[in-house]
Parts: sequence; C-alpha cells; structure tokens
Amino acid sequence: MKISVSLLSSYLYCSRKLFLEKVLLLKEPPKESLVLGSIRHETYDNINKAEELIVTSIAKKTPLAGLEVMYRQKYLQILRQAIANNRQRLEDVNLSMLDAYRRSSAFISDESMTRASNIFSFIESNNVFGDELWQRLEPKILSELRVESETLRLKGIIDQVHVYNGEYVPFELKTGRAPNDGVWPSHRVQLAAYSLLLQEHFKKPIKEGFVVYLDTKEKRHIAVNPYMKEEVTQIVNDILALLESRELPDFCHNENKCRKCGLKSTCYNEEEVSNLLKVRIS
Ligand code: SF4
Repeated sequence: MKISVSLLSSYLYCSRKLFLEKVLLLKEPPKESLVLGSIRHETYDNINKAEELIVTSIAKKTPLAGLEVMYRQKYLQILRQAIANNRQRLEDVNLSMLDAYRRSSAFISDESMTRASNIFSFIESNNVFGDELWQRLEPKILSELRVESETLRLKGIIDQVHVYNGEYVPFELKTGRAPNDGVWPSHRVQLAAYSLLLQEHFKKPIKEGFVVYLDTKEKRHIAVNPYMKEEVTQIVNDILALLESRELPDFCHNENKCRKCGLKSTCYNEEEVSNLLKVRIS
C-alpha cells in the first residue's frame, strides 16, 4: 500500500485529526485558505506550462521593461482564469472573485518580474533567442510532477522541480505564515519524502530542496541528508499502523491548532465520536 506524502504532514499536525478523516471518514468544511492555495497552485502549474511558448516567442533583444510587461500580462491572465475555474469553491467560502484576485495578484506579479529578469540576464550573457533560448535556458521547471515508489510506500505530486545541468531540486510552495527560522517540521518531512521519491524516479542524488512561503515571499533552503530516509520511513510505518488501528489517538493538546480545526466540534463531542467508532470500525 502506498500513502500520499501529504498524509505525512497531516499526521505530524495532529494524528487524531488524520484518524477522524481517514478512518472515521469525517470531512473538514472548505476553508478560504485552502481554496486560495488551490488557485495559486493551479496558476503556478499553468504558468510553467506556458513558459515554453513565452520563451520561444522572444525573437530579439528586448528591454527588461518590455519583458516585464509581457510576463506580467500573461501571468495575470493565467491567474484570472484559475480564479474563474474555482468560482464555485470561492462562493462556498464566501469569497468574491475580486477579493481572490486582490489577495493573489501581488505575488504572481512578483513572480513575473523575477522570471522576466532571469530571461533578460540569460539573453544578455548568451545572446540566443527563440527555440535555442528555450533549449539552453536554465533552470527548466517541471511542475506538478507525479512520483511514487513501492519501496518507500509513498506517492505524491511535487509542486516544482528545477533542473540545472542534470541536477534536480524540489520546491514546495506553501501558503500561510513562515516560521522565524527554517521551515515548519511538517514541511521539512514532506520535502524529505519528495527528495527520496525524486531520487528513485530520476536515479540521481538529491542534495537540496526549498520551501517557498508564498504569502511572505520567503524561500527557505533544506539540505537533504541520509538520516531523512529513516525518519520518513518511521512516519510512514506509524501512519500505516494508525490507519489499521481501532483506537482514536489523543487530542493534540495545542489550542492554536484546535481553534483553527474544522473538525473541532465532532472531535470534542465524546458521544458523536463513540457512535462513529461503532459504525465505522465495529
Ligand atoms: S480539534 Fe484539535 S485535537 Fe481535535 S482533530 Fe482538530 S486539531 Fe486535532
């Protein structure tokens, strides 16, 4: 059996919540942050898919300002389409399409500036255009890459993989606050799991990865080390045991997490939980 990498961070967040969702089959109501997160993922995915067309359309030296306008227009058009595709989900969380655009356009705009500037510098140093520019451009970005492994008992979709001269670097894009230092523990484990999957997929060692906190525009580095495999394997074992288990784990004892949890009312209702346990696993 293979489990999704996203379960690793869910487990580390609160094992009781994972049990409620996966064993007792409770569903958390939709959340504004999740819908905005999906829109951002969809936008980034489509930006990466459009990249070849944008780059090959550059046929001559263009001032940086011209490249910025071209990238910005294209990226914001992709964002608007992603928002329109998620119209119903936005309505479900009482968020207007305009609000979704206001809250997402700043970092999509920044991303377009960064990419325009990278292309400008590459052209300045290499003086190549069109197809040749695309062929030689580095890094190439693979997006939403599907990976899985029987040995690791894991499967998942990596947000982005940057390919530099045969080296693969995984990137995870996250919404929400970044920690003061480094990355949140669950994000580190998730990136470690993706690095192991990537290593097996391309048969190349993975030395490092990054977590990008989109809201605060921070890119945090993670050095991949050999101990991560042991840590990931242990968590996978624990999750598989939990999914087979008949025992509801204890509360996470973290007020902050419980306050934001969409399953809180059921989780703290002993009678409801005990009825669910009888129905689902008796
Ligand atoms: S309310 Fe708290 S303990 Fe219960 S599932 Fe949610 S986060 Fe976990």
